[in-house]
Amino acid sequence: MNIQNLRVAFLTLGCKVNYYETSKMEDAFKAAGAQIVSVDEKADIYIINTCTVTNIADRKSRQMLHRARKKNPDSIIVACGCYVNSATEEKVRAEGVDICITNDLKPEIVKILSSYYMDKQIINSETGYDETSTTKGVQKRTRAYIKIQDGCNQYCSYCIIPYVRGVLRSRNPEDVCEEIESLAKEGYKEIVITGIHLSSYGVDFNVEEENRSKITANAFTESKGAPLISLLENVSKIDGIERIRLGSIEPRIITEEFAKGLSEIKGFCPHFHLSLQSGCDTTLKRMNRHYTTHEYAESVDILRRCFDAPAITTDIIVGFAGETDEEFETTCDYAAKIGFSDIHVFKYSRRSGTVADSYPNQINESLKHERSNKLIDITSRLKANYESLFLGKKVSVLTEDTVELGGMRYIEGYTERYVRVRIPLESNSPDIAENNLMLVTVEGVTSDGVLLGK
Ligand code: SF4
Repeated sequence: MNIQNLRVAFLTLGCKVNYYETSKMEDAFKAAGAQIVSVDEKADIYIINTCTVTNIADRKSRQMLHRARKKNPDSIIVACGCYVNSATEEKVRAEGVDICITNDLKPEIVKILSSYYMDKQIINSETGYDETSTTKGVQKRTRAYIKIQDGCNQYCSYCIIPYVRGVLRSRNPEDVCEEIESLAKEGYKEIVITGIHLSSYGVDFNVEEENRSKITANAFTESKGAPLISLLENVSKIDGIERIRLGSIEPRIITEEFAKGLSEIKGFCPHFHLSLQSGCDTTLKRMNRHYTTHEYAESVDILRRCFDAPAITTDIIVGFAGETDEEFETTCDYAAKIGFSDIHVFKYSRRSGTVADSYPNQINESLKHERSNKLIDITSRLKANYESLFLGKKVSVLTEDTVELGGMRYIEGYTERYVRVRIPLESNSPDIAENNLMLVTVEGVTSDGVLLGK
């Protein structure tokens, strides 16, 4: 039984790993002959790839499931992902869900749906929908996300992921390279290497299944990131791959040796997302993060010695349980001192089942909001400072999209340091196209932080 001609819509919540897994599921449906459509359109199957990182993520996941059901009452609603792993099946089904798929079964999704249809005897290749309608939501062939690792053994006090995704598991490098080779053949030029705890990649290579849970939170510092470097070296040799970008890594993986190793990899992008979460040591301790602000700053110094103007971006949680005014101010001062090029600011959201959920002195929402606004203001200043470094300089851009703004046409893309660039189409050669690497001179910066190139 196949699911040919059915219209399948995806909606993804949460992290890059989830987005990666959605793209794999999309590919599997396409290979089976299904048509991927936008979630705003009428579909036969809606697949909601859920997240459970906070109570708010849970709520959002439930809302999306509910909304999909309303969109087409006759459709099949599939819930997959971390919310399905953490909630009871009964609770998930209460949102009108027909099929629940846990994270480990995502690769089997087409098979599961096919047998579901077979059971229900509702397969019908004449779905009656217009085959020529638009298929928004289909990925562009520029940048592809690859998951090389899943699970986490860090147990940060606010995070449910180790309980939901389980202990860490790394993919074997040959497998990863094979997948990237086929993406390169499809035309992808940039690869983003992702994982739940990327820095731990490979520490489980010689560990038996039953001993994985014993891998400590510090194990990766002993491996010095060698398995990751070796994988990236192999990726850089794949024909057609021009850029390699790393997802979020831990400050403790960065040593002189590791940074030097990265700097020697062809096409490696000097963009480092080092999760900080708090710039105050007492808060970091309550979060059960395993580094100090001093160690973090040392890692940043190493990166700045080994790379020219690297982009250092981060995540910071404001309003974590018990965060005093002084602790928050310490974080703000620290963020300014580090000079991040961008900060993703998150308001702490309690997650039942985590250690921090039972902490005393939880912060009220209005104070979280106030702190978040303050840190967002600091972020805008830091971002503008960083972007001004490129004025008058030449930057390499991988073009992605053609956009129309105020009657003018532009092509947009990102630099190696992940700064968005907009280039007026008129001022460039006729061969300007999407998915092209070009060298442009930065002539200005827009108020919303986009570099203007020529
Ligand atoms: S490192 Fe911490 S925040 Fe990240 S997935 Fe692991 S436990 Fe969660």
